[in-house]
Amino acid sequence: MVSGQCNCGEVQYSVDAETSGVIRCHCSICRRASGANGIAIVVAPADRFVWVSGQNSVTSWQKPDSDWKTGFCNVCGSPAPGENDAMNAMFIPAGSLTEGADELNVDQHIWVDSKASWDVIGDQGMQHPEGFPAS
Ligand SMILES: [Zn+2]
Ligand SMILES: [Zn+2]
Repeated sequence: MVSGQCNCGEVQYSVDAETSGVIRCHCSICRRASGANGIAIVVAPADRFVWVSGQNSVTSWQKPDSDWKTGFCNVCGSPAPGENDAMNAMFIPAGSLTEGADELNVDQHIWVDSKASWDVIGDQGMQHPEGFPAS
């Protein structure tokens, strides 16, 4: 059970299920999207995710020729949740959580080989040199 919102409060959501732990991506695309050392998300089942408000205020952008997609509040610019259709899941910015985030730990770091030189990874979570290993 988690809920969260953007900085201005226009976008609010809740999830009536457990999420994954935090997944950190250190790739250059996520660095540009965040302006920082990458993104941090939790993954929730799409059918347990509810928009409380602001779904129509989310602008999303899909990188051409890729499955990489991001969304943001078009009022305040905060990253917003977005669907991953292939996984039937919602990718939720971990930093947008207002409830339910206190017990979360980092589960996975991906694209570690392309991280910024100034990005120091702590000791939580498995590190993968590229994307998720094929399972
Ligand atoms: Zn906002
Ligand atoms: Zn990335």
